[in-house]
Amino acid sequence: MPRPEIPRPVRGTQDMLGETADRFARVVETFDRVRRLYGFRRVEVPVIEQTQVFARSIGESTDVVSKEMYSFEDRGGEGVTLRPEFTAGICRAYLTEGWQQHAPLKVATHGPVFRYERPQKGRYRQFHQIDAEVLGAAEPQADVELLAMADQLLHDLRIADGVTLKLNTLGDAATRGAWRDALVAHFEMHRDALSEDSVSRLAKNPLRILDSKDSRDRPVADAAPGIDDHLTSEAGAFFEAVTKGLDAAGVRWERDARLVRGLDYYRHTAFEFVTDRLGAQGTVLAGGRYDGLVEALGGPATPSVGWAAGIERLGMLTDTANPEMRFAVVSDDPMLDAKVLKSIALMREAGLVVDTPYRATPKKQIEAARKAGVDAVVFVRPDDVRVSSSQNTTFSGSVLDLAVARALQTRVEGLVDSTGA
Ligand code: ATP
Ligand code: MG
Repeated sequence: MPRPEIPRPVRGTQDMLGETADRFARVVETFDRVRRLYGFRRVEVPVIEQTQVFARSIGESTDVVSKEMYSFEDRGGEGVTLRPEFTAGICRAYLTEGWQQHAPLKVATHGPVFRYERPQKGRYRQFHQIDAEVLGAAEPQADVELLAMADQLLHDLRIADGVTLKLNTLGDAATRGAWRDALVAHFEMHRDALSEDSVSRLAKNPLRILDSKDSRDRPVADAAPGIDDHLTSEAGAFFEAVTKGLDAAGVRWERDARLVRGLDYYRHTAFEFVTDRLGAQGTVLAGGRYDGLVEALGGPATPSVGWAAGIERLGMLTDTANPEMRFAVVSDDPMLDAKVLKSIALMREAGLVVDTPYRATPKKQIEAARKAGVDAVVFVRPDDVRVSSSQNTTFSGSVLDLAVARALQTRVEGLVDSTGA
């Protein structure tokens, strides 16, 4: 019988092991710690929703809805879609689960999202987002807190250097309408220079042209009128409250008067954290205020603001250093196997990371441990243990004692530090 062909992974999906998986995990752990500091409650929402949840909230004319969604009919004939982002599903849950009683509701989540895009570095068809939303808060303080949280996340991941917060306002409905008219007039004047995509955006969603990645559009987009001439005094005051709040909270930002968000329902604050370290995929975190979205889903007026960030893109920016010290425990005497197991248990109870190389002989165990990159090997001997770190320094004592296991960590850390490893 011929061997069956091994199935390929689906295009645009990723399998992660080693460094990539470690960076991914670090982003998620850091996010989970930071969101607690800001009082954001963890929520889970389905990966799959009725297609109309996204079509109505994200907007039919956006790229996400018109080109990128994984939509299909299930066996019961219902039109469903794999979520391309979190916000719409969270707003749907806000309405159907009675979460309105908790308003203003601060929530956070993370998980896979799906977009049918052309895969490249930093751009996948299944990727993962962390997401934070404040529902039912009209106050600019909500915008400030969300941005401060994003800023702290980047600092705690040690990637804040080289990432810039670009901030804009899209104003209120009156502002946006007036600005839109000015943009349409400008783009009509330069229609011949625009890409086909942008010409079709001109009728449906002219603001999107500002966001175009097509090099043909850039000169016209960059010369487009900014929003400031059209800001109402209310919208101006809101933006000033946000920027003053950021300054007071110590969050650095830059104005980008041409920054827009793809979604139709954005109002007031719009922002992106961008870097030039990821080539064309330079936006790591993005969001803004979407005061009209819950209404578009049939709910009551619910001013809200939120952001999402790509976990893979954040992970690519983090460095690879593994801060945790790792040990292996071995003995060359089978009589001491129980003592080895007891030592491992105690060390783990003391919070030490212990790798267990599954090999038949101590020699092979040590080889495997070194190959796996452990920082120190603990040799269990009849009366004591001996520790050998990668610098060949030693330490003797009994590890059959929790206090000694803790001391061991400090001791080996000191040795590794003093040799500058
Ligand atoms: P882009 O301009 O790069 O297409 P976007 O505006 O479509 O991004 P959002 O919808 O704002 O992105 O999603 C928030 C974040 O999710 C982005 O800032 C980015 O970090 C990440 N992201 C978006 N699309 C992808 C993708 N296909 N693969 C990996 N990460 C992505
Ligand atoms: Mg996109």
